[in-house]
Amino acid sequence: MERVKNNISQTDGAISSYACFCSSCGSDHTFPGGECRLFAQALMERLSARKDIGSNSLGPGGTNRLSTDPLFGESRGKMFGVMECLAADGATVFCKAFSGQFNGLWLVEGWAPPLFDLDEWTRVNTGPELTIKRLSREIQACRDEHARRNLQRERRELSRRLMKDLHALYQLTNFRGLTLPLTDIFPDKTGIPTGTGDCCAPKLLNFAATHNLLPIGMSEFYWGRENRSANRRHGHFYLPCIEKCRPILGFMLCGLRELHVRK
Ligand SMILES: [Zn+2]
Ligand SMILES: [Zn+2]
Repeated sequence: MERVKNNISQTDGAISSYACFCSSCGSDHTFPGGECRLFAQALMERLSARKDIGSNSLGPGGTNRLSTDPLFGESRGKMFGVMECLAADGATVFCKAFSGQFNGLWLVEGWAPPLFDLDEWTRVNTGPELTIKRLSREIQACRDEHARRNLQRERRELSRRLMKDLHALYQLTNFRGLTLPLTDIFPDKTGIPTGTGDCCAPKLLNFAATHNLLPIGMSEFYWGRENRSANRRHGHFYLPCIEKCRPILGFMLCGLRELHVRK
């Protein structure tokens, strides 16, 4: 078994000191709990030993969509997140999440779901995605420079519109019980980065807030081949990302500190 490291990188800070502005109440919120390293390490050991994120291995000859092998290949690794919560009856509940899709899957049993309704997402995504793929093929085959530029412009415009329509499907619930679409929460309406709302922290917080769970610990780690910009390394812990998570975590954490005080 490979050794599990215990480094924290990116800002060297603790999650409890990671302040995010909440435009809903006009103040900064931090996560009032601590880390969740022990459960994260148990999960890392399980990933090391099993090399998949579930139990539906298909066996020899079949492809296992839950295999972690692709994380160590061309497609590279991804972030995983864990959260320790208290249920209403005082029981401890551990939740886990992977960032984005796992081998093309949004939903995997035992993992926090995305922040949108999957049927709706599929309905909105399918048509434009096919068109974008067709345009890409046409661009590649096109020999005329002018025509190619037009096709590229068409594809760019369609991608931008699709992204906007998809972002509007994300519904974020905070600990005051307030639910808003991502497009209302993100401060810069014109520049919501691709993948906003798909990271582990928003998935976990949203799951807790919609299931009457009180989060008391949270940790995120990277698993797999180092990313292209080389700032994410296998088995290392990271704070929520600055460009996608920080602008929405203020809203998502709203009301959590008060719940901690009442506990
Ligand atoms: Zn993030
Ligand atoms: Zn707030």
